[in-house]
Amino acid sequence: MNEKILIVEDDRSIRSFMRVLLTAQNYHVIEAEDGNGGITLALSNQPDVILLDLGLPDNDGLTVIREIRPHVNSSIIVVSARGKENDKVSALDEGADDYLTKPFNAQELLARIRVALRHRKATADKAVIPEESFCYEGLCVDFERRKVLVNQQEVHLTPIEYQVLSLLIKHQGKVLTYRFIVKEVWGSVALESDTQTLRVTMANLRRKIEADPARPSYIVTEIGIGYRFCEDPS
Ligand code: CA
Repeated sequence: MNEKILIVEDDRSIRSFMRVLLTAQNYHVIEAEDGNGGITLALSNQPDVILLDLGLPDNDGLTVIREIRPHVNSSIIVVSARGKENDKVSALDEGADDYLTKPFNAQELLARIRVALRHRKATADKAVIPEESFCYEGLCVDFERRKVLVNQQEVHLTPIEYQVLSLLIKHQGKVLTYRFIVKEVWGSVALESDTQTLRVTMANLRRKIEADPARPSYIVTEIGIGYRFCEDPS
């Protein structure tokens, strides 16, 4: 059974670029050219992934997310122009799973979709296989013993640093907003000061785990939005 992807996009050329690309990857593609059409197709088809443009002719993408999020468990990937970082943060806070910046290339789009599908599968399997350890490019975390190793050397993280790292690993490949991380780790609504605390925590964490903290290879900054743990290249 092929995974079903809904494209909600008013720009005909982008829509057809996506359709051709995704059909060639054997995804089952359905399309809407405005928000209302997108809502109807999302509710009736329950797609695995929704690629959602934020600037639509009738209602905007945020409205679409609000309308459908309680009723579909699709992964929603927002597709929006550079410079619309606030809109992307709002979309992620409303329940979108990830975002892609226009203009994007085919490989980026396919990578985002693979991550989204992998997370859906992982969530479905979670009850069956508990993750006890994690390894990625020389970084290993033993969740049972709360031990972190970089190139076989143990590094000592504070409890907060460990929680931030674990949270990002749990959502590997997905962007997490500052607000989401603060809420999950500190359990509070994100005030400006908490975001600042997160930045400091991240700087300390990177100093401990990254070979070159200025060019991180594990946790990348999504400017104006949040952080993302790098995904497997496969
Ligand atoms: Ca548009």
